[in-house]
Amino acid sequence: MQVIETIADLRKASGSCHKQGRSIGFVPTMGNLHAGHLSLVKQAVETCDLVVVSIFVNPLQFDQTSDLDAYPRTLEQDLAKLELAQADLVFVPCETELYPHGRDSITRVEVPGLSEILEGASRPGHFAGVTTVVAKLFQCVQADRAFFGEKDFQQLMLVRRMVDDLNMPVEIIAMPTTREDDGLAMSSRNRRLSLEQRRSAPILYQVLQELRQQLREGQSDYLNLAQQAENKLEKQGFNPDYVTVRYAIDLSVPEAGADINELVILAAARLGETRLIDNIRV
Ligand code: AMP
Repeated sequence: MQVIETIADLRKASGSCHKQGRSIGFVPTMGNLHAGHLSLVKQAVETCDLVVVSIFVNPLQFDQTSDLDAYPRTLEQDLAKLELAQADLVFVPCETELYPHGRDSITRVEVPGLSEILEGASRPGHFAGVTTVVAKLFQCVQADRAFFGEKDFQQLMLVRRMVDDLNMPVEIIAMPTTREDDGLAMSSRNRRLSLEQRRSAPILYQVLQELRQQLREGQSDYLNLAQQAENKLEKQGFNPDYVTVRYAIDLSVPEAGADINELVILAAARLGETRLIDNIRV
């Protein structure tokens, strides 16, 4: 496994791979890797000739410096996991490599509308930071396929939209959310939970499952059901940001009686200081 720090070296490696007619799979991450990330890498290894993983804690997508500073950086362990997972190349740029002119005046890529709702409403500027860095990384890696987790459902939708709007020659592959045995979606943020919070955290997924069951049984008062779900979370010590039923295709609000196969339930809630997100398809 090769560890590369510069865009020039990365381009060289991907260029020679393409010249040999080999396909490139790409998994962008912010590091602190867990089994969720590794499921993306595994899929890439199984379906592509050369697998590139990037590790970059992107300052552009953090709305609070405290959050950026607190983000766990565990490069050595990450590299060991990627070696085991049989990644071929790990791109670990420093900030000035990606933002040589500073991050404030950078040309941005932003998907209007979709970037402003739900997570975007709670974290202004977050998604512009995500799409900007993903667009830059796509330019550097020149991958045939890029792998994203459904855990960050809105992010996945935004990346798909950006690729579509800007005709980027890369196929976006979505991978299901990897969960702990008790149902909690794996996330780098989970380690910030106290023991007690960690015990309560799976309730978020349970509440989503209960709401899904109600939809499957034919209930379609989405607003009311979502409100009830928020109330349940509050009773269990969460501070819910939103629970909402949306069309999976564009995250718009569904009409009553929508085909449940087209729906997704999304939620964000704080447990103490830690903000958890999760979603399930109906
Ligand atoms: P991050 O390092 O948080 O930016 O995540 C990098 C990629 O891993 C994104 O595409 C995430 O959606 C994906 N990911 C994070 N957690 C999970 C999970 N529990 N299951 C599947 N994919 C995940």
